[in-house]
Amino acid sequence: MPNEKPKFYLTTPIYYTNGLPHIGHTYTTVIADAIRRYKRMRGYEVVMTTGTDEHGVNVERAAQKAGIPESEYVARMAVAWKALWDELGIPADEFIRTTDIRHVRTVQWLFKLCKENGYVYKGNYTGQYCIYDNAFVTDAKPGDNCPDCGRPTETVTEENYYFKLSAFQKPLLDFYKKNPNFIQPETRKNEIISFVEGGLKDLSITRTTVRWGIPVPGEEPHVFYVWFDALTAYLSAVGGPDYEKRGFWPCDLHLVGKDIIRFHSVYWPAFLMAAMLPVPKQVWAHGWFLMDASKMSKSKGNVVLPRPIANMLGMDAMRYFLMREVVFGQDGNFSYDALVTRYNSDLANGLGNLASRTAAMIEKNFGGKIPKSGPRLPQDDALAKVASEAVGEALDRFEKFEFARSLETIWSAITAADKYLTSEQPWAMGDSEADTQRKATILWTTTELLRVVTVLAHPVLPDSTAKVWTLLGQPGRISAVELDGLRWGQLVAGVQLGKAQALFPRVDKQEAIERIEAMANEELNPTQQPAPAAAPAPTATAGGAAAAPAPEKIGIEDFTKVEMRVGQIKTAERIVGADKLLKLTVDIGTEIRQICAGIAQFYEPEKLIGRKVAVVVNLAPRKLRGVESNGMIVAASVGPEGRPVLAGFPDEDVEIGARLK
Ligand SMILES: [Zn+2]
Repeated sequence: MPNEKPKFYLTTPIYYTNGLPHIGHTYTTVIADAIRRYKRMRGYEVVMTTGTDEHGVNVERAAQKAGIPESEYVARMAVAWKALWDELGIPADEFIRTTDIRHVRTVQWLFKLCKENGYVYKGNYTGQYCIYDNAFVTDAKPGDNCPDCGRPTETVTEENYYFKLSAFQKPLLDFYKKNPNFIQPETRKNEIISFVEGGLKDLSITRTTVRWGIPVPGEEPHVFYVWFDALTAYLSAVGGPDYEKRGFWPCDLHLVGKDIIRFHSVYWPAFLMAAMLPVPKQVWAHGWFLMDASKMSKSKGNVVLPRPIANMLGMDAMRYFLMREVVFGQDGNFSYDALVTRYNSDLANGLGNLASRTAAMIEKNFGGKIPKSGPRLPQDDALAKVASEAVGEALDRFEKFEFARSLETIWSAITAADKYLTSEQPWAMGDSEADTQRKATILWTTTELLRVVTVLAHPVLPDSTAKVWTLLGQPGRISAVELDGLRWGQLVAGVQLGKAQALFPRVDKQEAIERIEAMANEELNPTQQPAPAAAPAPTATAGGAAAAPAPEKIGIEDFTKVEMRVGQIKTAERIVGADKLLKLTVDIGTEIRQICAGIAQFYEPEKLIGRKVAVVVNLAPRKLRGVESNGMIVAASVGPEGRPVLAGFPDEDVEIGARLK
């Protein structure tokens, strides 16, 4: 087949489903997505797998606590995880669940191969067991208490299947030597090699005390235990026993957190060697994002959630921060302050500002058509050189997963263009032929630099670079541009610029942080403050009131509890990060209130000023998308999409503050 593309297969961990994704999971998935987009722009056919690890005692317990069957519990979790990745624009090509039948078959098949090859045997496992929690307590000695419930553990012996990991000490060490890039970064490799050199113990891979797991065929009540189940999902996702048909195995890249590198670089290749299957090409361990230098965890209450950040600043801002702030492989510190600072400096003032002011100057001076470059001066060639060199350097660094340095290269080209404009001052030039020609050269040069950096940044900033691409009137999709063909000088003159695009509106740091934290709080404590409906709420534009089913008839005493008054809108503005909401200030006679209304898609803010509306004034204050709302504007809900139409007083000039009865 002459046109067949080379294949590239990469995975994130198969995330354990005893909670919902936080910024740590998002980090790994974002990196995987950026590599996927980059590889596609280099001509590869790429599959990226993520998924959910759904078996084990913790899931049994969580389901019991929720009062639902395990199958229902894990189905809900899988839906939530998958939906979040889709919402954040980082969907999997293969989303594998360890309860999928294709996975169950693959685990059973892998076990059969290992057994046929003599690497599996039955033995007894003795350990400390907590009867209350129904689980062995790893590393506990007789007399120790259970770390989960504090009750004394008992010594219990059960029959297990063991995997002969001890037989793989030499094969693994030989493999690491022959494949020096298998474990990355280097520090992790040294750790693993000394661990394996210290000797490997056989590994228990089944349990009879756990109920919620994949059964060992013909050996019930044995079920597969943790790693033999979870790791195999990478293979299940691309065909399992039929992996050769799809051609994506062996895997090119497993991205993992540094805490699970051992399982991926010792157990997993050993299982595959035992089954005589191809071993993955690389395992890359990244560091953790720390909050105030301690590991993020739900119990510490310092969890950072991805959705509020994406809502406030856009997903591209989060992607940029995660990949720019920390050297890949090392730990990094996460702070909202640093996030918003980078957003304003690198995105709003950097890429966003360069793109919008260049477009504005072309609009003003050349009727929106990219001008043809005239005679070139040394400073024009110097900027061309910066951009030209950035291509090679940024790609080389990305290829080595030096994401922060790759972005640094791209952003120093943006800074160079800013300096170039500042010193050339095209806006100060007149309309003489010489000045017009000079302006043409300057703007062509700046636009060409923008085109180059936009393509280079696309894997990291997919949405905003696509907008810049449209703004510059460039043909086709930016994702279809081949990185290997990217050169300085390809910008075609005469092309009409596209529609202006909102890129990165500047935000006030304090306000942005407060709103991100408020949205995170809404998400973590959903019962206290219901999140605003995704669509305008059917009867009340500020959301909420429509959520509870109303009783069929109410007495007048219930109705009089609702205090509605005539209010007049004084100001109205859009809210960054909440495209359905408007922030209004409303005069209700006795005071001026701030109220959010879900009408932004149907009402222009400027046209609302001075309008009289019906306001529910005694509604408890609440936060919508992190913005305080103190009251509710009444609107009718029209049509199947629930379009809001504001209630009003067209017949008479009613007094502000008048009560509705
Ligand atoms: Zn216990």
